[in-house]
Amino acid sequence: MRWRVPDDPRLRAALAIALAFLVILFLVSGIVLCRDYLTGRPLDLRPVAQDIDTTIGKILADKGTVTGESEELEDETGVWLLFSTHAELNDGVDAAAITRRIKEAMRPNGFDVAVSNGDLVTEITVSAFGKQIEQVQMISRPTTPSSRPAEEDARRSRVAIIIDDVGYGGEATEMLLEVNAPLTFSVLPKLPQSSALARRAHEAGFEVMLHLPLVSHATQRVCPGAVWVNTTREEIGRTLEEDLETVPFAVGLNNHQGSVYTSNELEMHRLLSEIKELGVFFIDSRTTFNTVGLKVAREMGIRSAERDVFLDNEHSADYIDGQMEELVGVAHRDGKAIGIGHCHHVETAQAVRRLVRRLEDMNLKMVPVSELVE
Ligand SMILES: [Zn+2]
Repeated sequence: MRWRVPDDPRLRAALAIALAFLVILFLVSGIVLCRDYLTGRPLDLRPVAQDIDTTIGKILADKGTVTGESEELEDETGVWLLFSTHAELNDGVDAAAITRRIKEAMRPNGFDVAVSNGDLVTEITVSAFGKQIEQVQMISRPTTPSSRPAEEDARRSRVAIIIDDVGYGGEATEMLLEVNAPLTFSVLPKLPQSSALARRAHEAGFEVMLHLPLVSHATQRVCPGAVWVNTTREEIGRTLEEDLETVPFAVGLNNHQGSVYTSNELEMHRLLSEIKELGVFFIDSRTTFNTVGLKVAREMGIRSAERDVFLDNEHSADYIDGQMEELVGVAHRDGKAIGIGHCHHVETAQAVRRLVRRLEDMNLKMVPVSELVE
């Protein structure tokens, strides 16, 4: 039998009153339970506080000299920990980048992050459930005054470093995103993190490029968004447009692999015609000595340049430092140099940091690669 609203108006009124009474009873008991929960059984926020401190500790690890202490606090609503962390940042470590990472780690969990910025001091307060959990004070080293004469700056040789293969994320990528110098991030298209990393790099003030996979033969491991040999201009154009949609803010592109492709004048002409139409610049990664990329690009009047030094074909710190020296040598000789490193290795990120610290002493200036195209 189906239940239906009775016809009698008095019965309907009585039912409505009974229903309202039930709802009010429900609400009142809910409020009482909540109050009992909050007052009778104080919240234990200590595990949450520990998690917050561990996360911040990881973010600050090897960024400088970090000291800290904690105390346990309690009021009628709960018990929690307050951590005070003090970090003297290393040269070249950007407090703004660390602040961003802390926000990115905390906010998705609903924790509040308040920041106050001084000249060399940044203070961050993280709160959870209305309690202050961690106060971080970061002290940056004073940088050499930027008021140095413009001509001296202009006399400096220029170095650009492109970071290739961005799109997977990981520790080295995170370290590179915190470098306090204008690196250029070249992002592989159509990977789960392509867009997010391109956006983060752009927001952190870095130049972004599309790292275009070129496929020469079917045995190659094929990346998403690749351009194949023997493809029509129309298809190339479509691929490039789709790729660029997943790499926002890209102002140029360089090739990922594709040695056979870049050594073929006909193929390069077809590809570069589409690149020209998009109005982005082209950097020849020079994955082969036989490449004709730069030659064809220049003939076609496309803003272009080529890589001088691959920085990390081997991953040892010694090797990468050696390649950095070579890059410095080219810059001093030619007035400019372009290096390419990869976001896979922590060693690369560390070597980049070491180079950034020495730039001024070596009378060098790092620039986004777009400043070196002709
Ligand atoms: Zn690559």
